[in-house]
Amino acid sequence: MSLAAPKTPGPSDPAMARRMNRQLVIGALRRQREISRAAVAEETGLTPATVSSIVGELLDEGIAREIGLASSTKTRGRPAMLVQMVESHRYVAGVQIGRWKTRMAIADAIGQVIRVEEVDTLPLDVKGSARALAGQLQRVLGLAGAAKSKLSSIVVALPGTVETRSGRSVDVPALGWGAIDIAGPLTKKLGCPVVVVEDTQAAATGELLDGAARDAKNVLVVNLGEQLSAALVIDGRLHEGATGVAGALGHVRVTDRPLACGCGRTGCLDTVATPDAIVTEHRRRLGKPRRRRTTASRDPFLDVVRAAQNDDEHAAAVLSEAGEGIARALAAAVNLLNPELIVMTGGVEYLPEPIFETIAQRVLDSAHPDAAAALRVVRSEHGMSGWARGAALLALHHAAEDLTDLIAA
Ligand SMILES: [Zn+2]
Repeated sequence: MSLAAPKTPGPSDPAMARRMNRQLVIGALRRQREISRAAVAEETGLTPATVSSIVGELLDEGIAREIGLASSTKTRGRPAMLVQMVESHRYVAGVQIGRWKTRMAIADAIGQVIRVEEVDTLPLDVKGSARALAGQLQRVLGLAGAAKSKLSSIVVALPGTVETRSGRSVDVPALGWGAIDIAGPLTKKLGCPVVVVEDTQAAATGELLDGAARDAKNVLVVNLGEQLSAALVIDGRLHEGATGVAGALGHVRVTDRPLACGCGRTGCLDTVATPDAIVTEHRRRLGKPRRRRTTASRDPFLDVVRAAQNDDEHAAAVLSEAGEGIARALAAAVNLLNPELIVMTGGVEYLPEPIFETIAQRVLDSAHPDAAAALRVVRSEHGMSGWARGAALLALHHAAEDLTDLIAA
């Protein structure tokens, strides 16, 4: 699975070519964990001389190490020296800011997530938040045994529309944020590049690189967060669409009720199936006034789920309606894209098994039989930490590419 179009360096730019070749070698080391120089050459298509020179450079810089001779060799002659990446030569961090909880994951240089922590989401004044967030992240780095000086990249995942290039969050109503620069202050505090992405992108990266979708080619990663959206993987590549909003599942119309959506239309899936919509509708059915924004750290969505499990028929009905809407939108997507796998991430973790099963079965029942026959619908293996884990892996990917490409402009 590749996350970005491969760049083919032109012969006119030897420095760029060298840098790209170096990334190819690092990529091979990261994937194989231990590998000979000859195998790196085979895997990357680079000449043995180029590989030797780059590996020599990585050894000198402490990025890679030799670990001894291979115990057996398929070819005649001397057994090959194996090389591996030094896991601790650098670290990356993923931060996912949700309305109630903020989750942080630290990964090492070979993409092993070594620590995940969950804290209450801070009061949402951005200047102060960035400072406090930097403090929280430093604490988690300490818990992971990772030196701040070795932190090479941070990805912050937000539940909204994000302008990745500028590092500004464009519209994150769930957090009450408008066009706010979160990356700048964090970079200043932590001394490394920060990229802001949408939480769906982070969730999808986690599933594709280290989750349920790791071996799949055609996948829908459905993110049940503050808004509902999907990442589309088609033939092993993330599909972004003409204007980058492919997968806006939350704006599929699923109900005739005149429920106003943030997009300006009515009856969108987001109006019945986000945690906030579910909480609001549950309160309406109980005759309670609409909840004001509070500073409480407890997610009221969990109360609705618990009530449904304790025979509160309103809660059960609201969750069932949400599930029905999700299933309807997904069935249409399945017929259009014919995926082999749907991975549901985020808030789906909180859904009781019977509700999840009902959604999965509805999708299979409503899709074309041939599409349904090839399809599995599963939950993420990583629960609520999936976003932060994915953000950390995305950070590793960004650090490996030339990050200045992403944060410039
Ligand atoms: Zn909408």
